[in-house]
Amino acid sequence: MNTCSMNNPLICPLCRKPNHCAYAAGRPAEECWCMNLPVPKRLLSQIPDEERGKSCVCEACVRAFKADS
Ligand SMILES: [Zn+2]
Repeated sequence: MNTCSMNNPLICPLCRKPNHCAYAAGRPAEECWCMNLPVPKRLLSQIPDEERGKSCVCEACVRAFKADS
């Protein structure tokens, strides 16, 4: 595990892939995919405490979670 990715706001804390968060990339938050695809609270609860609220999850994880539940 590459610890350099810890707390990187551009990396999904669940799968360690780029989360494509527009806001973290310095673009307007309205451009982010999460504006059209709300992230379930139960998915957010799976993020490690130290990363919750710092790193966004990625769209793939949200879609996988929704398909699962
Ligand atoms: Zn992810």
